[in-house]
Amino acid sequence: MSKTKSSESVKVVVRCRPLNRKEESNGPAGGIVQMDLRLGQVILRNPRAPPSEPQKTFTFDAVYDANSKQRDLYDESVRPLIDSVLAGFNGTIFAYGQTGTGKTYTMQGAWLDPEKRGVIPNAFDHIFTHISRSQSDKQYLVRASYLEIYREEVRDLLDPNHANARALELRESPDTGVYVRDLTSCVCKSIKEIEEVMNMGNQARAVGATDMNEHSSRSHALFLITVECSQPGPDGRKHIRVGRLNLVDLAGSERQAKTGVQGERLKEAAKINLSLSALGNVISALADGRSGHVPYRDSKLTRLLQDSLGGNAKTVMVATLGPASQHYDETLTTLRYANRAKNIQNQPRVNEDPKDALLREFQKEIARLRAQLNHRKWRSKQKKEQVDGEGWDDDTAGEEEEEVEKEAEEYVKQEEQRLEMEKEAIRGDRFLLAEEKQRLLGEKERMMGDLRKEQEATEHLTAKYKAMESKLLVGGKNIMDHTNEQQKMLELKRQEIAEQTRKEREMQQQMLVQDEETLELRETFTSLQQEVEAKTKKLKKYLKLYAKLQCIKAEIQDVNDEHVRSRQELEQTQNELTRELKFKYLIIENFIPPEEKNKIMNRLTFDPEEDQWKFQPLVPTESKSSQMKKRPASAVGYKRPISQYARVAIAMGPHSRYRAENIMFLELDMTPLNTASLDRSTEAEPNQSPSQDNSPTKDRGVRKSRSWCQTQKSITSSSSNASLVACHTSTPTAAQ
Ligand code: ADP
Ligand code: MG
Repeated sequence: MSKTKSSESVKVVVRCRPLNRKEESNGPAGGIVQMDLRLGQVILRNPRAPPSEPQKTFTFDAVYDANSKQRDLYDESVRPLIDSVLAGFNGTIFAYGQTGTGKTYTMQGAWLDPEKRGVIPNAFDHIFTHISRSQSDKQYLVRASYLEIYREEVRDLLDPNHANARALELRESPDTGVYVRDLTSCVCKSIKEIEEVMNMGNQARAVGATDMNEHSSRSHALFLITVECSQPGPDGRKHIRVGRLNLVDLAGSERQAKTGVQGERLKEAAKINLSLSALGNVISALADGRSGHVPYRDSKLTRLLQDSLGGNAKTVMVATLGPASQHYDETLTTLRYANRAKNIQNQPRVNEDPKDALLREFQKEIARLRAQLNHRKWRSKQKKEQVDGEGWDDDTAGEEEEEVEKEAEEYVKQEEQRLEMEKEAIRGDRFLLAEEKQRLLGEKERMMGDLRKEQEATEHLTAKYKAMESKLLVGGKNIMDHTNEQQKMLELKRQEIAEQTRKEREMQQQMLVQDEETLELRETFTSLQQEVEAKTKKLKKYLKLYAKLQCIKAEIQDVNDEHVRSRQELEQTQNELTRELKFKYLIIENFIPPEEKNKIMNRLTFDPEEDQWKFQPLVPTESKSSQMKKRPASAVGYKRPISQYARVAIAMGPHSRYRAENIMFLELDMTPLNTASLDRSTEAEPNQSPSQDNSPTKDRGVRKSRSWCQTQKSITSSSSNASLVACHTSTPTAAQ
């Protein structure tokens, strides 16, 4: 399955949006982000630090400042990735950054303005233009899906019943990696169709947003495009390559706890933070390279992006920044995140002839329909030739299909006319009996009906065949006119320029590194003058090194601060959750009987696949009938199950005091005791209980009626009827 296997790192580009009106009006402080486009560097100024503190510099594969155009970002950083997807690689682009820094703008942009169209619409253009320009022996099938992850639940945005749909499950297969089960996927034949799919999903998202405030910046959105391409290989067989493209707009990365949220919102924030911090942990583990375990399973997002981070995919990360000084902390975090992601190594490979290629299924189905259709048409043609008196000739087998179709149609027409004429003839025949006439007419009518049915079936089959075939896109169908050719040239030139810029930047970055190294080499000096120069240079170098050291020290301090902050935040969340847990425990301990609790506990199992605790069914589903709990057997001769007590009672014969099971103790109210002699007499008095209980009853107040359903404890504590208790405990089945 794999063809070319090599390792390449995740490409990380950074984009900074312009100051917005509110930020501009906040003061003349201006932005804190500076960019060196030539070197691909971002320089960040700390607005709270003294001017003497060195600024922080980060280097990336490319940087885009406030004046950058959507088209530039696409041509330089995204186009090569989409080309790879069209060649059968997996590709992922994800936008990461604080809310309001331009993630959605970068991924989607303003659709109606050609200048402001984002990565997704540009990718649509790119894919379908590529298909229309490719060679005619290539067949393509393009599919799109759209999902979002909200509160750790995967939801299908193309499901018409989105709002009420249950969360989807993630599954893993050795062929495709992690995938979403039962996710809707739409076959798209044109840019317009795929745009409609996108709009449909966006609407579903927007509806969610009105229900839950700011929903969109709290959910991760994934648009998935699968491009399957079949092409005859050197061995003459058709080979299929499958490229999968994930376009991801992540939720805002800012700290939700900052806003002081509580309750449901806190849980929601914890879940968003959970998936983002899981993403951070995955990136750290991969960038580090030393830790063997990568915690992909910690969140749905990281599981879905498993292949894109450290697996079989080419990945571009667009980190978005805002230039405002009040968001210095978040901007620094984003840059750190992005800086770490640069070190992730992926192993992309071409997905060739996977087992689950839909294109193969389509091709098979089309071939089957075509064979069926041809068979029908040939049959009609054959009949026509028999009617015409022509002999069936094998030479005609090579005839053009169109001719066959025409002849088949003609045959149907002729047959209809013939039957019509025959009917007329029957009607006009005076020698036939009325009954016979009716029968013959009926027969002809039936024949006509059959003919029509046959024709309808053929038409139905043709429609199905055409619909199926139209879903497959064939390369080179667009006639390459002059303007098209020119446009292609223009695009090629643009691509070349983008490539050139990229190379130039890489060289600049390399030169910068080399500069520092060469300084060391020039150490031989002949004169004092030179020595002085050399020493000055050395000093300069040391100064530079010192500055670097300061930078790193500051960075360590920052990282520590950040760590402390996130720990505090986690502690706060933990406290909140512990409080809730204690509350739940309290309820369980005080309001749920221990045996019920145990029953529930015994039924609980952990499902690692879904990362959830689940209840086992009360009765195992496979043997429901055989495992049903048995009804207690009734004593022979009795209609109903009978308790031990009742049996004893029957054996003992009727007792005047216990006629029914509901026993009521009605003891006399005693006058308060005030003399010693009376007291003694009470003790001497025999126990009133029929079972001769030896625990004397001190409580002489009014007794309330008691029945069998009282618990054992309450009976022993308040009544002297120990024998009843004995009966009661010895017959658990009856008590149940
Ligand atoms: P996010 O998705 O990160 O929350 P948005 O993409 O919604 O942020 O951007 C917030 C606002 O900033 C939008 O009004 C958008 O038009 C504007 N914006 C973002 N990036 C740019 C940019 N590069 N150029 C111009 N406007 C931008
Ligand atoms: Mg957004």
